[in-house]
Amino acid sequence: MSGVGGLRNVEAWRTRIPRYRFLGARCKSCGKLHYPPLKACPYCGSRDLEEAQLPRQGRLLAFTSVYSVEEGGREESPIFVGLIDLGVARVVAELTDVTDPSRLAAGIPVEAVFRRISEEDDEGVIVYGVKFRPVPGAGEGD
Ligand SMILES: [Zn+2]
Repeated sequence: MSGVGGLRNVEAWRTRIPRYRFLGARCKSCGKLHYPPLKACPYCGSRDLEEAQLPRQGRLLAFTSVYSVEEGGREESPIFVGLIDLGVARVVAELTDVTDPSRLAAGIPVEAVFRRISEEDDEGVIVYGVKFRPVPGAGEGD
């Protein structure tokens, strides 16, 4: 089995399969946006939520490095996990494409990308999900 070509598949999927849009859930009662989507709003308790497209770009508020990656995870360590302000919502997500950790800082622009989350499961399905990467070229002096 080979995962080669995965990124190309992601490019195709994210335009063709709605599941690969960056969706959260908006509470119809209080208007709060949640990501990942929830079945009930933790703020007001309403169960009346609808799908909502989330902005793909935001700003990194804070981040941490994680050195113990759960079994079955990637070999690389550490991974970086960030708190990201999308304006309409704040999300916690893995940061990817971090080539130089010293450039991670509160306030840098980041954008959502679809990346492999886990290897193939028993049915041969490779799971993809949203991660955030520093916006290429933004805030860099070179
Ligand atoms: Zn609510």
